[in-house]
Amino acid sequence: MFSRNALLIGVIVLLIVVGCARPDQSVEPTVSYETYNEPYKRIDVAEGLYLREVQNGAYVITQETEFAANSLLVEMADSTLVLVDTPYTIDATRELHGWIIEQYGDRDLIEINTGFHDDNLAGNGYLISRGVPVYGADLTVDLLKEHNSPNAPPTDLYPIDEGLELEFGSEIVRVYYPGPTHTLDNVVVYFPDRRLLFGGCMVSGWGGIGNTDDADLDAWPVSLHSLEQFEADLVIPGHGDRFYPEIIAETIDLLENME
Ligand SMILES: [Zn+2]
Repeated sequence: MFSRNALLIGVIVLLIVVGCARPDQSVEPTVSYETYNEPYKRIDVAEGLYLREVQNGAYVITQETEFAANSLLVEMADSTLVLVDTPYTIDATRELHGWIIEQYGDRDLIEINTGFHDDNLAGNGYLISRGVPVYGADLTVDLLKEHNSPNAPPTDLYPIDEGLELEFGSEIVRVYYPGPTHTLDNVVVYFPDRRLLFGGCMVSGWGGIGNTDDADLDAWPVSLHSLEQFEADLVIPGHGDRFYPEIIAETIDLLENME
């Protein structure tokens, strides 16, 4: 049986051999992209729609499509529920809303949009019809108009450069705009008491960059550096299953090494 030390030496030797065998490669990837799957409790809501409980009272919501997307539901100190982004469709949003009612009863519920794409807000119309206030940036409304989007805009607007802070009893939530990224209007949502940051579509949790049609590729990594101010144990990406804080640095790395 190998001792721990023998195993360690073996690994080091292997790394040296592998390293020496590739002398031409000047840029080694700094990040490894092995699958990261915490054993979070999974709750299936409907076909292709499930939640993972990442903290007590905080759920990552995932709708599986050709490019699965994440939203977030958080129970605040005063029992208000904060939903960050909707699933891709009205139907999935209705299913999710039904689960929330079943689980929590008649609670105050608000929604925050982190951008103008479908995976951020295609369910707005349904939630608004159910009396849910939807917070969003002024620029998000402008971009919805510019793109002739069929989706309902947010109902409660704030100037994007100022961001937004909402209070729920003893707990706050902060919406922050770091500058242009994957879209011109993507914002992040920070729950300081939980050390939880919803990074949304500007942060990649799957090892790739995806759709860049509306992106500012020069500004994006610069904007991401400003997220280092947030102390977070969990960072939730718009897409992907990695919820650890290093995904911010991983995304910067991906952007800086794009062809
Ligand atoms: Zn997205």
